[in-house]
Amino acid sequence: AEEIFIRSEKMSIAGQLAAGIAHEIRNPLTSLRGFIQLLEAGMENKEAYYKIMMDEIEKINTITSELLFISKPMTDEKSEASVTEMVSDVITLLKTQANLYNINLLFNVEEEIVIYCDRSQLKQVFINLIKNAIEEMADGGDVITTIKKTEEYCIISIKDQGPGIPKHLIHKLKEPFFTTKKNGTGLGLMISNQIIENHHGFLQIESENDKGSTFSIHLPV
Ligand code: ADP
Ligand code: MG
Repeated sequence: AEEIFIRSEKMSIAGQLAAGIAHEIRNPLTSLRGFIQLLEAGMENKEAYYKIMMDEIEKINTITSELLFISKPMTDEKSEASVTEMVSDVITLLKTQANLYNINLLFNVEEEIVIYCDRSQLKQVFINLIKNAIEEMADGGDVITTIKKTEEYCIISIKDQGPGIPKHLIHKLKEPFFTTKKNGTGLGLMISNQIIENHHGFLQIESENDKGSTFSIHLPV
């Protein structure tokens, strides 16, 4: 995948996606074909193979669902909505999962902030970023979400205590299919970035080795 992205720096997003999809789906398909050949040859221990085959099918399934989400026309259902309330809803939704991994989801708000936005799209962004934070903290810890307001922006920042991101990789995070996870799709940040830009904002990524990362969503007020 690495090689594809270096060559595709100048390709359109659609071109990068197409190249990535072909690659990401071909790998599990190749492995499925291999396992079927092994089974045809009459292997013992079939159950172990079925398990791996199901995992490969699940991988293809996850990629397809995320792609369906992207290919849906962005319904622009914008209205005035409270960012505080949206973030709070998402935190409540993810709290149970976080607790299982010894992670506290903390929330700092200075004031109630209302902006013109598409609620379901923005909620998707908050879910993606907080989930990423949780997934980086194998040993537990705190994920701190802070909302504040400047003259220009409502800034929602999500700070984790994970391993951080090496500097040379930060610019790759928003590219489709860049993932360091065994079962990752590498689509979450690309989708999130697209939604934020659809709101005329931007996503800032800061990270220090061993000190965790902070993802700051800037949305114009
Ligand atoms: P996925 O979660 O499926 O891997 P994403 O687009 O959400 O896809 O994230 C892409 C990659 O960015 C992750 O695989 C990980 O390497 C990196 N990343 C995202 N969030 C964080 C974070 N909070 N800390 C460190 N690395 C992160
Ligand atoms: Mg993700």
